[in-house]
Amino acid sequence: MSETAFAPSLCRIDLAALQRNFVRLGEPASLMPVIKNDAYGHGLLPVARALAAAGARRFAVGTPGEGAALRQAGIKQEIVPLLGGMTLEDWRSAAAHSLLPLLADGEDLKKAPACSWHDRVLRVGIKFETGMNRLGFRRQDIPDLAEYLRARPCLEPVLALSHLACADMPEENAYSQSQIRAFTAVCESLRAVWPSVERSLANSAGLLGLPESRFDVSRPGIALYGGNPFAGGRWERLGAGLEWGMSVSAPVIGVRRLRTGQSVSYGRAFTAPADMTLAVIAAGYATGVARALSGRMEVLVHGRRVPQVGRVCMGMLMADVTGLPQTRPADTAWLLGGPAEPGVSPVTAQETADRLGTIPYEILCRMGAMNTRVYAP
Ligand SMILES: *Cc1c(COP(=O)(O)O)cnc(C)c1O
Repeated sequence: MSETAFAPSLCRIDLAALQRNFVRLGEPASLMPVIKNDAYGHGLLPVARALAAAGARRFAVGTPGEGAALRQAGIKQEIVPLLGGMTLEDWRSAAAHSLLPLLADGEDLKKAPACSWHDRVLRVGIKFETGMNRLGFRRQDIPDLAEYLRARPCLEPVLALSHLACADMPEENAYSQSQIRAFTAVCESLRAVWPSVERSLANSAGLLGLPESRFDVSRPGIALYGGNPFAGGRWERLGAGLEWGMSVSAPVIGVRRLRTGQSVSYGRAFTAPADMTLAVIAAGYATGVARALSGRMEVLVHGRRVPQVGRVCMGMLMADVTGLPQTRPADTAWLLGGPAEPGVSPVTAQETADRLGTIPYEILCRMGAMNTRVYAP
């Protein structure tokens, strides 16, 4: 968080909501909460501390740098950096900070042994390819891998990991099942050599929708932050009850009358069909509101939803508050979440994502990174 806020909009993080989501998702021992990319925009350290307080025993981060930041902040839990492509420096940092890095390809096999020294054993995971076709070893690599690792007692494999490509799509169930089978086979081969290796496959969608994908440890990300991987689909109820942890507010900085036929904002994209009242709100594409949402979004003002009109500017956007004559400068408008009147639902990251043709992950990362964050409990 910067000491000087450059923009008046605020990203509010409800850590208690994240803790409730965590508890809802299962036993702490069976979960490795994913807090990569600054905890999906919610803030790496505050989220790690909150989840640790709720019982989390391990964390998945993106980079070894994120892992090092957690260690420096005193986090003692097991930490797995998920992102591949680790440089030699990354491997050294992972070892120095006692992270649990993943071997994902032949390059890693060259770098990893350089990182254990003075007879210290580096615990590692092995990333397997089962259907993402991105990174990871295949089952046929296991004999060579086993031979290689046996010759290097400084590396101790303790975790096998793979990633589901479409667990959020019930219509792709056959593909998910093939990944579960491939992972089962891989783990059997591996556990013939290292019987105590733990297995981790499921993301949020797998954890909630495919119990057979849970194995020993699931890795929920989006569900922790309140996203339902099955939103809008026939499995939607499986993600019911999760609570969004992020809301975003911005002050009203002006209230203006627009006469019939007058336009507002750049490009004159909106012309008033009748006399109306606009609130000018201090949020824009520089604070995470995509310009492509111009004229296609709503904001919450005085507990009610109002349509945004005209082009979204860099730091301002306008909304039609004709029906809310009490609106004044310094009132609060909500881009995500916020207090709504009975019968009114706040804007969610899911809704914003749907309007924009993307997924809530992107909305959360963007809003969290582009606004000053403040924390409740
Ligand atoms: C991001 C990520 C997850 C979490 O996925 P969600 O869909 O957010 O639950 C799990 N595993 C890996 C390897 C990831 O990169």
